[in-house]
Amino acid sequence: MNEDGAQVARIATQIGSGLIPDNNEWIHRFTTRSTASPREIHTVAQRRTDGAWACSCRAPHCRNLTDTLRRLARLPIGQTLRPAVRAMLASARTAHDGSPE
Ligand SMILES: [Zn+2]
Repeated sequence: MNEDGAQVARIATQIGSGLIPDNNEWIHRFTTRSTASPREIHTVAQRRTDGAWACSCRAPHCRNLTDTLRRLARLPIGQTLRPAVRAMLASARTAHDGSPE
């Protein structure tokens, strides 16, 4: 795992998520258990092409998507973070501001 990946893994731990490897289409893939049905795993990730955030369940207003973005948005964007990781947190803030509570 490179340093970017290590920092993202630490962030996943901080927000109580798991992390699964990037694939061709998605990066920063945070896994969370569904609040409604704990046996369901939702993967909240950022699309590689345009940076948009989405959940694997495809529901437009997935509660797990909103919760994950909220937790990411609350983290400080520390000076020691790598540029790609800072960009990821900044993007989560923007996405969270625009999402319904
Ligand atoms: Zn979902």
